[in-house]
Amino acid sequence: MSKTWRPATQLVHGGTLRSQYGETSEAIYLTQGFVYDTSEAAEARFKGETDGYIYARYGSPTNDMFEKRMCMLEGAEDARATASGMAAVSAAILCQVKAGDHIVAARALFGSCRWVVETLAPKYGIECTLVDGRDLKNWEEAIRPNTKVFFLESPTNPTLEIVDIAGVAKLANQVGAKVVVDNVFATPLFQKPLELGAHIVVYSATKHIDGQGRCLGGVVLADKAWIDENLHDYFRHTGPAMSPFNAWTLLKGIETLPLRVRQQTQNAAKIADFLAEQNKVAKVIYPGRKDHPQADIIARQMTGGSTLVAFELKGGKEAAFALQNALDIIKISNNLGDSKSLITHPATTTHKNLTEEARAELGISPGTVRLSAGIEDTDDLIDDFAKALAKVSA
Ligand SMILES: *Cc1c(COP(=O)(O)O)cnc(C)c1O
Repeated sequence: MSKTWRPATQLVHGGTLRSQYGETSEAIYLTQGFVYDTSEAAEARFKGETDGYIYARYGSPTNDMFEKRMCMLEGAEDARATASGMAAVSAAILCQVKAGDHIVAARALFGSCRWVVETLAPKYGIECTLVDGRDLKNWEEAIRPNTKVFFLESPTNPTLEIVDIAGVAKLANQVGAKVVVDNVFATPLFQKPLELGAHIVVYSATKHIDGQGRCLGGVVLADKAWIDENLHDYFRHTGPAMSPFNAWTLLKGIETLPLRVRQQTQNAAKIADFLAEQNKVAKVIYPGRKDHPQADIIARQMTGGSTLVAFELKGGKEAAFALQNALDIIKISNNLGDSKSLITHPATTTHKNLTEEARAELGISPGTVRLSAGIEDTDDLIDDFAKALAKVSA
């Protein structure tokens, strides 16, 4: 297995374990357990003296292939595949804190992520401070003597705000805290949090990694020492393991990740430029555009734009609903990263549980719409928007 492979090659060949049959495609090992030739062999396996699998909750061959492939792409030493993105996020955070510890998190988080740090963690005596993550000063001011974890996503959902990952990592290192980055929106192709100084990276593999709307999955990546010390036992004994069937689906998905993400990003960029010219659109936020308020940080920490575009219609909720309802190819769905273009109105769906005030803090207005660009023909998507916008009253 060559470490010099470039990403597109890693994603097709990385981590492949061929059975004695020499199959071309990766095999699905749907087994709960494993058998041992002798009692002595079982004893040695349990003692950790020989390599091999013990029980599928701990690890299994198809999941191993997925984990190894993700490690190669991310430049991480070790990984654990989880049943969903939220299993990855909650495990990555909860495995390393105890009562009395403190977490600092950016307030612009995926809804369930925010619930884990804002609502769940305090029930176990773990305090959390939410900050406007765009300004490093806010992170610094939130630090307490018991701060153990910094948690962020960048770009954020849905308004594509940026957090300076290297800046946050520097602050964390000064106080011995760990930085956990939810890298879903950037994808593993366009942003490398570990290279920027973060300690742990998590993904919802449900999004771009599957990319074809089929199954849930997640992954936690970090250095081996951190995983051994924090995640290893937590993972074995709380049971968030991914199904081997889903690991196989995701292995097949990840082979085409660069092709899909490239086309999605190109579509998103062209749609962003098109929308910015429309008089019914008040504002477009796209990490690939020069007018993004944090274009300087984007240039430093990302190597591509985004598959997502956020924009605001002048006509508020009524206009947003009218636009979504008039689209034909682009489907209304809260999911993202799919090969099908999907659009959602955050204020009434993904962010409906926040107060109007909390939404305003995140830049979500009644007219805000989020597009996840798919891999369809660019011109068909632009035609779809042009026709739908014509039906929106000014
Ligand atoms: C979807 C998503 C999650 C949760 O992932 P699931 O696979 O749905 O559990 C976490 N963070 C971000 C940024 C997401 O987009």
